[in-house]
Amino acid sequence: MKRMTPQNLRTPGPTPIPDDIVEAMTNPMINHRGPEFAALIKKSTEQLKQVFMTKNDLLILTASGTGALEASIVNTLSPGDRVIAATAGAFGDRFVDMAEAYGADVKRMDFEWGGPIDPEAIRKALHDEPNIKAVLVTHNETSTGVTHPVEEIAKIVKGEFDKLLLIDAVSSLGCIPLPVDAWDCDMVGTASQKGFMIPPGLSFISVSERAWEAQQTAKMPRFYFDLTLAKRSLEGGQTPFTPNLSAMYGLSRALDLLLEEGMENVFGRHATIGQLTRDGVRELGLKLLVEDEAYASDTVTAIKVPEGVDQKALMGKMRTEHNVVLAGGQGKLTADIFRIGHLGSVDKSDITEVMDALRVVLPEVGFDP
Ligand SMILES: *Cc1c(COP(=O)(O)O)cnc(C)c1O
Repeated sequence: MKRMTPQNLRTPGPTPIPDDIVEAMTNPMINHRGPEFAALIKKSTEQLKQVFMTKNDLLILTASGTGALEASIVNTLSPGDRVIAATAGAFGDRFVDMAEAYGADVKRMDFEWGGPIDPEAIRKALHDEPNIKAVLVTHNETSTGVTHPVEEIAKIVKGEFDKLLLIDAVSSLGCIPLPVDAWDCDMVGTASQKGFMIPPGLSFISVSERAWEAQQTAKMPRFYFDLTLAKRSLEGGQTPFTPNLSAMYGLSRALDLLLEEGMENVFGRHATIGQLTRDGVRELGLKLLVEDEAYASDTVTAIKVPEGVDQKALMGKMRTEHNVVLAGGQGKLTADIFRIGHLGSVDKSDITEVMDALRVVLPEVGFDP
């Protein structure tokens, strides 16, 4: 296959990979039951704990992000367990579907797409149904560009009701603060191809003491994602099954880069770029799906397709004439919005390029502000 020219890849995953991470990934294969791998996984696991801000167990799985989320469900729940799953977008919906697929009795709580999950509604639901075992929430809803108020939700779920809290942090961890221990989150799952600047193929999950306790009696079927196997293997510097070695090399370099930059600075960079993106969109005369700055995501921005503009033509021209790859909408918003991803390896010039290209393309596809 011919080598492709790098694009300004503004999808909310996969995200661009810095050159020295690409270089790290060209390392030769090693024995994943040997000492070099043991050193690699032990170091990366400790560094990942810093990124997750946790002392909990942290496991690296060879899977996309969905694998980590599935692991959070099957390791803590039994068929028939009553759980709350709050959703305001395509990824919230997927968390519902996964829990249902494994036989959980899901109390589905729907919130408006483009708005936040209301913590008060969760408090009321937990109050009304004392038999709820767990609450499932998405930290950053990638399909709408909303960051849900997980800190407030955690105070209720953990502080007031002491239930299990399972979090989809696939498009937020390492970009938007999610201090796992400070917020007392039981299971938090994320993936390599979003904030971590490496290809798809790895997911990371933190597991609290409470989650391990739940695991002992959880009866949902599991094999590949049985986290006791992963924990036991890790003690010997291994994984139960063959790990994605190339991505592990990339991860090691990526974690060095993140920790050298400092997580506070990484969060600050995403906040600055999120703001730059939203300001740029407004300046072009476009409408954001999420107007409220309190919930606007600093990793992905959704923009309403203006009246009379062909979304596919817009995205096509951006890609073919300006080398900028945008994302469309998902689920019921598929044709109504387009999205700009700004997570992982991203700086101001990447966003300036997007805005410059939009300024040229919008009038060509019928935009009349
Ligand atoms: C990307 C994403 C997922 C799915 O991750 P995969 O790596 O495709 O399995 C889940 N949740 C959120 C919030 C995401 O952004």
